[in-house]
Amino acid sequence: MQWIDIGANLTHDSFERDREAVIERARRHGVVQMIVTGASLVDSAAGVELARGHEGTLFATAGVHPHHAAHFSATDLPQLRRLLAQPLVVAAGECGLDYYRDLSPRDAQLRAFEWQLQLAAESGKPVFLHQRDAHQDFIAVLREHRARLVGGVAHCFTAGAPELEDYLGLELSIGITGWLCDERRGAHLEALLARVPADRLLLETDAPYLLPRDIAPKPKSRRNEPMYLPHVAAAVAAARGDSLEQCAACTSANARRLFGLPAPPP
Ligand SMILES: [Zn+2]
Repeated sequence: MQWIDIGANLTHDSFERDREAVIERARRHGVVQMIVTGASLVDSAAGVELARGHEGTLFATAGVHPHHAAHFSATDLPQLRRLLAQPLVVAAGECGLDYYRDLSPRDAQLRAFEWQLQLAAESGKPVFLHQRDAHQDFIAVLREHRARLVGGVAHCFTAGAPELEDYLGLELSIGITGWLCDERRGAHLEALLARVPADRLLLETDAPYLLPRDIAPKPKSRRNEPMYLPHVAAAVAAARGDSLEQCAACTSANARRLFGLPAPPP
């Protein structure tokens, strides 16, 4: 079985010492391709560099996370436009709104989000979307831009049925993480997963965050890695009543289609 992790923060400091080993371990666990999430301009450029060293296996997104929106100005737009034009960049983002942490003022978040949706439309690449506690504003902005976007994924979906219906209504894909494997806060997702059409389902670890809580034996480190993607997949498949093989085939095909990925290297 072959898996694709559509969201791994592999440029994160916690991978500094053993990044190559992490990528190799993932491959040994059947995670044949990974998309490196870009959260700022510097980080996105680093992601592209990393992907360049692993052609066919790693890809990158380029964008500014809402946490960093306060430091993103109009003078940065040409740089982001250049990053989005790179062949190894397969999506614009991660971008969106986060009113849970509110690390950037909301008007700055909204402005950065709109700019990135415009650049995504211009680039013809899908959007990698982040939303937390900001659904009303988020969906209103997306509705305005959706017709010009080729597609997108609501990454790390953890919300409820109304939000899911809104995303599906906008023909977005749904990214599921190990949040599902946390019985304290992921139980509601189990029932919702059956409502995600097979052609909209994507898997991601969001490594190094969101280590699945039910991995046994518990890893020594709290750091999540792409090699745990099949563990998340097993929970997704069980919740949907799919076989693991079905889950691998459909989520990999979905990732290839949305992000335009080539076949993985042999
Ligand atoms: Zn996110």
